[in-house]
Amino acid sequence: MNYDYIVVGAGMGGLGAALNLAFNNKKVLVLEKNSLPGGVVTTFKRGRFEFDVALYDLMDYGNDEHVGSLQRLFNKYNLGVEVKPIPYNIRIKSIDDNFDEVIKGEIDDWILRLEELYRGSMSTFRSLLPVLKEIHEALMALKKGRKNLEKDFPNFIKYLDYNAIDALVDLNIPSKTINVLGYLWMEIGSPLKKLNFIDFAECLYKYIFKRPVGLANKNIDLALKMVNRLEELGGKIYYRSLVVEIRDNNDKKEVVLSDGTIYKAKEVICDLSERYVLKNLIKKDYPEAQAKENARTLSMNGLVVYLGLNKSYQDLRLYNYRYYQFQNLNSVTNIKSMKKLSHHTIEAIVPNIINENASPKNTTILVLKTLYLNDAWNGVNKDNYYQIKETLANELIEEFEQAFNIDIKEYIEEIDIATPFTFARYTNSINGCMFGAMRLGYDNSIHRLLSYEDERILHLSFVGGSSLLGSGVDNAFYSGYYITEKLLNERGED
Ligand SMILES: Cc1cc2nc3c(=O)[nH]c(=O)nc-3n(C[C@H](O)[C@H](O)[C@H](O)COP(=O)(O)OP(=O)(O)OC[C@H]3O[C@@H](n4cnc5c(N)ncnc54)[C@H](O)[C@@H]3O)c2cc1C
Repeated sequence: MNYDYIVVGAGMGGLGAALNLAFNNKKVLVLEKNSLPGGVVTTFKRGRFEFDVALYDLMDYGNDEHVGSLQRLFNKYNLGVEVKPIPYNIRIKSIDDNFDEVIKGEIDDWILRLEELYRGSMSTFRSLLPVLKEIHEALMALKKGRKNLEKDFPNFIKYLDYNAIDALVDLNIPSKTINVLGYLWMEIGSPLKKLNFIDFAECLYKYIFKRPVGLANKNIDLALKMVNRLEELGGKIYYRSLVVEIRDNNDKKEVVLSDGTIYKAKEVICDLSERYVLKNLIKKDYPEAQAKENARTLSMNGLVVYLGLNKSYQDLRLYNYRYYQFQNLNSVTNIKSMKKLSHHTIEAIVPNIINENASPKNTTILVLKTLYLNDAWNGVNKDNYYQIKETLANELIEEFEQAFNIDIKEYIEEIDIATPFTFARYTNSINGCMFGAMRLGYDNSIHRLLSYEDERILHLSFVGGSSLLGSGVDNAFYSGYYITEKLLNERGED
């Protein structure tokens, strides 16, 4: 069977690409190895609880005042996605810094509190806001293909090659305030010293102006809505279709499944990391591309403990949407502590805070997560896996109880534990890494956007959290749109 485009993988990136192609009347086929769409944006059931695997904060959706790219795309495809605003309601603790604060209210409350803690924060933070806005606008212009940015966006040009710390120091933000801002990035394990300032600024811009939202329904509903719309637009999706090879045959690409079936298309779009594709799906060697890929830093992997608790969040005193505990607020040293399997970095989410229907009445879902540097799990093998997994989950629960003085153990009705091996098996991410290749040093999203054309292998296109714009559902989905728009334009197709 011949198609215009084949998309390998039905994660957010793949579905973003397929929807845009089908919307533009292209004949598109999505091949997905699992039985459900969405990749990590999915839901599983244990007893009377339905747990969302990944998506809790949807960035770049925005609001009426600041409409985000995602909202625009969801509306364009008429997906009918319902969202709930997420209030700033985050408790952050840092052991070494003796720091324990709740970020609550509006951005101005936040700034006032920072000023009380660290003098000088208010005026400098306020002067940072227009810089964030300028950088955001420059990025939008760049994505639209504008070449000359110097005149209108001097800060964008100035800070293009700065790391986040150096830029924030240059902008006179007090060092302790910088550390507090760093928590956003510790969540995905990027040290501010290596993170490009433009990537940092864009994330902070979305966080402050567009505010994250949550889904009113479960993760899987979002993925299914996308698939339903894709099919309405004439696109096709085949599940349980593991792609094992992609090859060139004259002017066509051939995509081979594990059962030997071959599908043909003019173009193939991969919702997979380039590293996985180079290693597993292309039989030919591409030494330059391989060398470039090996030079990239894979993001963290992690342990996630999904808990169904048989008490309401009010009775459990779980009043915050998110909880964080770090060893310390210096992102560089904190991230180093993630080399060991046992450490004190905890992230917790209580979805019931924004959504009363997240679990049955008088119950609560609590998701605990801790991250690891990529090789932390190297010593784990089939003999010690189950014991290590259970020990670490137990430690995480106990540390959460201790850190926030909240009892949860005796109220656990359901528990499920996902390790790097779980994620690697489900999505084929290398080492189970959760956030693709980190946007560090020169491998930042600006560089990726500018060098995309020169670095293509086999004329394949890549979308999703490992591609141009980095991880996050917003970036993954938008990358699908962005890349397919480029392909349609290249072919002179609207
Ligand atoms: C625990 C966790 C929490 C997160 N929380 C958030 C959050 O709150 N907000 C946010 O914005 N982001 C969050 N993220 C990140 C975000 O979910 C991801 O960046 C994004 O969903 C990645 O989408 P993707 O399309 O790149 O990849 P994936 O979701 O990995 O999808 C890839 C798809 O390709 C399929 N596939 C792989 N190999 C093959 C093959 N050979 N043949 C056929 N199919 C194949 C896989 O089965 C999968 O369906 C979180 C991630 C994790 C893991």
